[in-house]
Amino acid sequence: MSDLPIILTDKPDTIFVSPVGKIAPWITGLIVEKMEDFFGFKTRQISLLEDLSFAFDMDRNQYHSTLILEELAARCPREGLKVVAVTREDLFIPILTHVYGEAQLGGTACIISISRLITGSDMGGVDRGSTRIVKEAIHELGHCFDLRHCEDEKCIMHYCRKLEDVDKKSNQLCRYCNIFLSDNIKILGE
Ligand SMILES: [Zn+2]
Ligand SMILES: [Zn+2]
Repeated sequence: MSDLPIILTDKPDTIFVSPVGKIAPWITGLIVEKMEDFFGFKTRQISLLEDLSFAFDMDRNQYHSTLILEELAARCPREGLKVVAVTREDLFIPILTHVYGEAQLGGTACIISISRLITGSDMGGVDRGSTRIVKEAIHELGHCFDLRHCEDEKCIMHYCRKLEDVDKKSNQLCRYCNIFLSDNIKILGE
């Protein structure tokens, strides 16, 4: 028996930010920058999906986010560790009237909808909208890193039903979620 060289397989090491449909470049750019800062992985923009018609629900006039996640995960390139998609379409899951986003828990893909975060009359302008977008993107990606909902109202993993709740929470993890995330990221590197 000869000694075979050990083949090191390249591990996925990139977070992809995928705009779906027309998204202002500054929004995509902001998400790329903030996800890289927060999770510490190299982060790049990619276009994985253009047409969401397969997920459209005629009765609700909304898009079923779970179906979109499956499609995104299937299209994620090999080097992609996680994918966060961003859309202007309104999203739902069957048990809720709408969602700001959805994620595959401990999986590859998540998505956020900016439609309810940045538009409307009481939205407090672009600054508040962009803060919400960043919070929701971190929250959903957090789920992809296996983080669950947190009781702490300030923690970014707190589940928010209303925009007031989104505005109330911080853009950081509580110390318990932070430890959990660090541990999960460490395991990925092993
Ligand atoms: Zn959540
Ligand atoms: Zn927490």
